[in-house]
Amino acid sequence: MPLDHDQLRRYARHLTLRDVGVEGQTRICSARVLCVGAGGLGSPAAMYLAAAGVGRLGIVDGDAVDVSNLQRQILHGTPDLGRSKADSAKAMLQRLNPQVEVVSHAVRLTRANAPDLIQPYDIVVDGTDNFPARYLVNEACVLLGKPCVYGAVSGWEGQASVLAPHLGGPCYRCLYPEPPPPETVPAGGEPGVLGALPGILGCIQATETLKLILGRGTPLIGRLLLVNALDMRFREVNIRRDPQCPVCGAQPGITAPTDAPPAGGATAPAPAAGGREAATAPDIRQAPR
Ligand SMILES: [Zn+2]
Repeated sequence: MPLDHDQLRRYARHLTLRDVGVEGQTRICSARVLCVGAGGLGSPAAMYLAAAGVGRLGIVDGDAVDVSNLQRQILHGTPDLGRSKADSAKAMLQRLNPQVEVVSHAVRLTRANAPDLIQPYDIVVDGTDNFPARYLVNEACVLLGKPCVYGAVSGWEGQASVLAPHLGGPCYRCLYPEPPPPETVPAGGEPGVLGALPGILGCIQATETLKLILGRGTPLIGRLLLVNALDMRFREVNIRRDPQCPVCGAQPGITAPTDAPPAGGATAPAPAAGGREAATAPDIRQAPR
């Protein structure tokens, strides 16, 4: 469908941008993206995707807004306390761009509902904050052949990648075959995170999503981007697909999404590795959420 007068004005700075233009903006306006989680990562990701004019933007979140969320979850404000995050997100995103169809799914993603929730969308942005949810999103995306734009943060560190075995590169289970053992999960409360850090990672997720929609540039497929905000260093490691992977391997052992991986059962990550960059990323005890 051609862009109308309002769209030509609203997206003017995309229309004059190399690798977007009218054709690219038309693609963005026709795209369907599902953000799983309307928290620290999902907030900036969804806001930039809505501002960019993504045609349909789904928001899955079963939680309500808590005052401790507001330090980083900028989709929500003080008047939204107690409100469903999915509904609060929808109100903010519609205010930002009424041309976007925002679909609020005020439910927790489960094995039972994941396929139906994800199927109508082209791309999934993983903004979840715990390992069982990440494994579930990954398995559903692999089974449905949808790219998963991954981001995670803990403390001062974060990471991002595009997980899409059908486009090359590994899935989340290739990267982290097992959840962390429960004894590595810190007891007593949520680990800290610098409020602005999920802003950085969520914007990277939005950028990678738009690149996938446009089919331009070099996506973070097969590459894990590591961010250390305290030293403000970015680096990346190559990550490979595991031919024996139970999710995306040649003979997958998992043919339906699971609510939790078979081992471990941790719901919160270990704190990110203390300070300096690890030689190789994939040690889940150091994986941020
Ligand atoms: Zn895999």
